[in-house]
Amino acid sequence: MLEDKNPKKTALSKLGEFGLIDHLTQNFKINQESSIKGIGDDAAVLNFNNAQTVLTTDLLIENVHFDLSYMPLKHLGYKAVVVNLSDVYAMNAKATQITVSIAVSNRFPLEALEDLYEGIYTACKHYNVDLVGGDTTSSTTGLLISVTALGIAESDKIVYRNGAKPNDLLVLTGDIGGAFMGLQVLEREKEVFKVNPNNQPDLSMYAYIVERQLKPEARKDIIDLLEQLQVKPTSMIDVSDGISSEILHICKQSKVGCELYENKIPLDPQVISTCEEFDIDSTTIAINGGEDYELLMTISQDDYPKIKANPNFTVIGYITEEAKGKHLITRAETAIPLKAQGWNALNDQE
Ligand SMILES: [Mg+2]
Repeated sequence: MLEDKNPKKTALSKLGEFGLIDHLTQNFKINQESSIKGIGDDAAVLNFNNAQTVLTTDLLIENVHFDLSYMPLKHLGYKAVVVNLSDVYAMNAKATQITVSIAVSNRFPLEALEDLYEGIYTACKHYNVDLVGGDTTSSTTGLLISVTALGIAESDKIVYRNGAKPNDLLVLTGDIGGAFMGLQVLEREKEVFKVNPNNQPDLSMYAYIVERQLKPEARKDIIDLLEQLQVKPTSMIDVSDGISSEILHICKQSKVGCELYENKIPLDPQVISTCEEFDIDSTTIAINGGEDYELLMTISQDDYPKIKANPNFTVIGYITEEAKGKHLITRAETAIPLKAQGWNALNDQE
């Protein structure tokens, strides 16, 4: 629905696999010291000296993880990189390299893949990571993208999910719920478009939440900030599935309980107004919606003075002994057990 009506279409068969890879990756440059050899040989060569290496991978499938009727390919390329970098940052590591593999059907002309790689290129530049390899193959149906990201950290800097201790503060970056509500708006506009294809959607009043869905950012800035403030979280995770599920991951791995305060959860005014418009409870969205790619961490109370004046951080609760359980404390001060409903489960309910 957001597509150009008369695009140029060059068949992929014109280039062949190697020609295609060369064409799509010709503008990518190597910037990281650790990238000894990037694309162009049988394998990339990397040298991390004595640093520990963080490795993460993600597979995205058309119509399962993304819908091209409202997701421009440029944004998809950007997002595919960002979601992986977010996992690297969630380890308190610095992202350095990625590989990208795609499978495409002949439905996609060269120009479509150029758009996809433009998004990948923009993300590489913005986050200063090198594209050092990948694969391109054909698919019988839709588009598949697999991104692998590498990062480095000194061994004493890496933050795992299992280090939270009772009395630690539960801290969230940014605000949440926006990506989920952005998706609701896009899905609604898609239905309108199906009925009337001439109807161009006006999304200006939803700009922030639509951007949170289509062009999320990974919180590299927070990793730099934590270093600057000399705060090492006791545990950390990125918010891909919703904070309820992420908090439970931390609690399970750290063998602790927690209290999350409903009235402390940071929401953008656009999330609140869109929730009202859709008649959905904003707290449900905040804790179960996903894809915000913020960072959720626990920090020692001793570190609180270092973060308290910083608008990037919000204390949303604290860690308790495991036996106390995991609860959401509502505005009415009722304790409700936290459940891992998550992003997918929320979709299934509709
Ligand atoms: Mg993660």
